Amino acid sequence: MDARDLSQELGIQEKEVYTHLHHVARSMKAKKKKLIILPGQCLQCGYIFEDRKRLTRPGRCPQCKRSHLQSPRYQIR
Ligand SMILES: [Zn+2]
Repeated sequence: MDARDLSQELGIQEKEVYTHLHHVARSMKAKKKKLIILPGQCLQCGYIFEDRKRLTRPGRCPQCKRSHLQSPRYQIR
């Protein structure tokens, strides 16, 4: 799921997902579940936002400067 799906799942605003993601990850750990973050990717050149420290949606690709990006996706296991 992406941030929008997660916001619907948790009943919060999409922007709040980013704010709360650290807490979500922590509470998952307590429940012996894991929040897996699949990095966003540039659909133009294939650049992967792997080493991105912040969890917010990237505005544009640092490589090709386009903004045709796939949102980071989240899995709960
Ligand atoms: Zn790119």
